[in-house]
Amino acid sequence: MTSKTVHHTQADVIIVGGGVAGLSAAVALGRSRRSVVLVDAGDPRNAPAAHSHNYLTRDGESPLELIRLGRDEARHYGANIIEGTAQSATRTESGFEVTSADGSVVRGRRLLVTTGLTDVIPDIPGLADRWGRDVLHCPYCHGWEVRDQAIGIIGGAMSGHQAQMWRQLTENVTVFTYTATEPSPDELTRMRARGIAIVEEEITRVDVENDAIVGVTLANGRQVRLDALVVGPNFTSRSDILASLGIGTTEMVMNDHVLGTYIEADPVGATSVPGVWVAGNVSAPMDTVVAAAAAGVKAGAAINGDLIEEDVRVAVGLPARLPK
Ligand SMILES: Cc1cc2nc3c(=O)[nH]c(=O)nc-3n(C[C@H](O)[C@H](O)[C@H](O)COP(=O)(O)OP(=O)(O)OC[C@H]3O[C@@H](n4cnc5c(N)ncnc54)[C@H](O)[C@@H]3O)c2cc1C
Repeated sequence: MTSKTVHHTQADVIIVGGGVAGLSAAVALGRSRRSVVLVDAGDPRNAPAAHSHNYLTRDGESPLELIRLGRDEARHYGANIIEGTAQSATRTESGFEVTSADGSVVRGRRLLVTTGLTDVIPDIPGLADRWGRDVLHCPYCHGWEVRDQAIGIIGGAMSGHQAQMWRQLTENVTVFTYTATEPSPDELTRMRARGIAIVEEEITRVDVENDAIVGVTLANGRQVRLDALVVGPNFTSRSDILASLGIGTTEMVMNDHVLGTYIEADPVGATSVPGVWVAGNVSAPMDTVVAAAAAGVKAGAAINGDLIEEDVRVAVGLPARLPK
């Protein structure tokens, strides 16, 4: 039998996930003198990218350096950061208990889940190895860096939209339309009007030389020279831990296509289960770094407000309002 290590008697808040959302919440809560225990597996979504952009004053910073700095700030305000993977969460009389893969247990009055999402990209030989380097998805994250270069877009539900977004950054855009979700005739007209090339043959391989994409090989053997590829990943919410509390995912639908899953919550991150909050990509797949950080701060403030209400109830002699 595995003996359990209890890391903390009872924190005010357990945070599962220490990316920018979780760490920002930890700072907001710590500055409100709330005790925080944060469990983090240490693989933020943008880790494959060398640089992170569009976060004012930190433009170009390495994603892992952002996390290192964020951990320092959260610890400065008292957060107890535990490295590990949380596996399940259960209700207790006074809050929640989270058990990690190594059997250790943390306890807290409220639970905030900021575990992000997994990007599921098309299964094409050579594609996954380049993810986050020259296989891209977000023009705001990496577009400037590949401006004026040859960009290929692997068709997906949003390829009509993506093509026009990337065309803003370069005149050299090719859309590969062979996938299950072909662009509509109207989208094809709009693409051709902007000089966007259309290729119908299937891509069989991504070609790489000297640690950089040089193009793709098509099913008919033809090679197309490219500097970078754009995909439309399926955004799969990393929320297994919430399933153990009865919180399931919702499908994210756009243009009648399922683009992924997310956890539904109110504008400050409260879920359908009292005492459980979410923030960042686990609930908002389109959030960039600065938006996920802001969501973490909002959720942290909302949780602090909820705890204040409970503290006042107890002070006036009412029973604590425990999660139901
Ligand atoms: C390749 C790439 C490049 C990007 N570049 C940019 C950019 O330049 N600018 C920008 O604004 N946005 C960028 N983004 C988007 C950015 O990654 C997200 O906005 C941001 O990571 C969301 O933060 P988060 O805290 O919600 O999730 P994450 O950063 O993914 O953090 C989630 C954390 O939770 C942990 N975790 C997950 N499950 C568990 C568990 N069960 N137990 C414990 N810990 C767990 C993970 O290990 C991780 O540390 C990029 C995305 C990708 C894919």
